[in-house]
Amino acid sequence: MDPSKQETNQKKAFKTMAKKETEEFQFVVYNTMTQQKEVFKPKTPGKVRMYVCGVTAYDFSHLGHARAAVSFDVLYRNFTDVDDKIIRRANETGEDPISLSDRYCKEYNIDMSDLQCLSPTHEPRVSGHMEQIKDMITQIINKDFGYVVDGDVFFAKLENNRAGERVAVDSRKRNSSDFALWKAAKLGEPSWDSPWGPGRPGWDIECSAMSAHYLSFKFDIHGGGLDLIFPHHENEIAQSCAACKESDVSYWLHNGHVTNNNEKMSKSLGNFFTIHQITERYHPLALRYFLINAHYRSPLNYSVVQLEGASDAIFYIYQTLKDCQDALLQLQEEIPNDGKPAWTTPDVKECISKLRNEFQKKQQKQQRLLVIQSLKEIEKEVTKVLDVLGLQPPCSYNEVLLQLKEKALTRAGLVEDDVIRLINERAEVRRNKDFLKSDQMRAHLQAKGIALMDVGTKTIWRPCVPVQQESEVVPSESQKVPPKPETA
Ligand SMILES: [Zn+2]
Repeated sequence: MDPSKQETNQKKAFKTMAKKETEEFQFVVYNTMTQQKEVFKPKTPGKVRMYVCGVTAYDFSHLGHARAAVSFDVLYRNFTDVDDKIIRRANETGEDPISLSDRYCKEYNIDMSDLQCLSPTHEPRVSGHMEQIKDMITQIINKDFGYVVDGDVFFAKLENNRAGERVAVDSRKRNSSDFALWKAAKLGEPSWDSPWGPGRPGWDIECSAMSAHYLSFKFDIHGGGLDLIFPHHENEIAQSCAACKESDVSYWLHNGHVTNNNEKMSKSLGNFFTIHQITERYHPLALRYFLINAHYRSPLNYSVVQLEGASDAIFYIYQTLKDCQDALLQLQEEIPNDGKPAWTTPDVKECISKLRNEFQKKQQKQQRLLVIQSLKEIEKEVTKVLDVLGLQPPCSYNEVLLQLKEKALTRAGLVEDDVIRLINERAEVRRNKDFLKSDQMRAHLQAKGIALMDVGTKTIWRPCVPVQQESEVVPSESQKVPPKPETA
């Protein structure tokens, strides 16, 4: 499908979210702030303003980032390109921090485009919003919520809660839970001039400043991963309310973690997979299906079995849609032209016979038209759902099926010629009625994720969930390729 058309459809779906509650459709969200599900009502009817915390771009994006992006789908994200992690990585590699993060921001965009995430209206970067950040810090200081110590600016928290849970306690702070709004320049770090001396922003201030710049202090949705609730979002609320008393975000939405062996997948634990690593072996749309298959707030455990299942499920969906298109094409071709019958003969008997033939043809045509109509309806409904989920491929079904087959061959460590050769060898074995051997050959391929299907006298292949892994997690019925036992 034309990507621009797909974008329009997805945008339409998002607009539906924004419709007033007067319509029968109600969109319910879980608001982390109130800890309950609420009916979504945009501040301005028909318009949704959303801010989603973006990635700190110092390396390839991992599965957790993919989940946040895909969960919020039509997501207004931003990039952190000035941060401790980026500076540390840049110092290790001897690269300029801004160009390093620029490189990884570009990689992130490629990953997100592969996953069919729509581009947000704005993708602000910290380095391009220093003025807004400094303005907000000034407002916070003017309202006595911030104080300067040796070129650093700290936010003065009222209570001494949860101090030191994430940040090291600094003896220069009034309160151990106070956090940095501005960090004085250190050797080897990028810095910007400010009323408090050269330095760079603290990590939390960027989101308050950039969301206020693009969406004002009042907007509908603020999103991010579960791990951002504390301290990042708590600090953001404190900053924004200090700078503007009327600050008001209606809904705080958080997506669940991606886990690996039930441990949170993160860079610091080193148990993560980058999106690149996964899409080398699995189609990006299979990864997208895997990510949206679980409820966005529940933890999602990474497993090869689940990815195999997702891959198999989308192959099944696209194959069905392709079969549907082929059937429609064939049916339309079979319908006779609606030309007037040329009745030249005066013979009444012959006339009656011709009339009966015409009537039967009309009846058959009527039935075919009904079949075509219902097939078209089904196809329309399915593609509508795929559009909303962002699973409509950017190319033809045939092409995406070939791509899925190619990935399956990569995982199996085979090329298509190997499979064809095995199919031919098996045909020979079958001709010799050695069905035990033929079953073994089929099972050998099925263990590698290649299913052989005997259709009439021909044998075709398609990807399947490798059989030896089925014992670990049982895929749903729709994901299974039923093994057809050989019969003599
Ligand atoms: Zn943020």
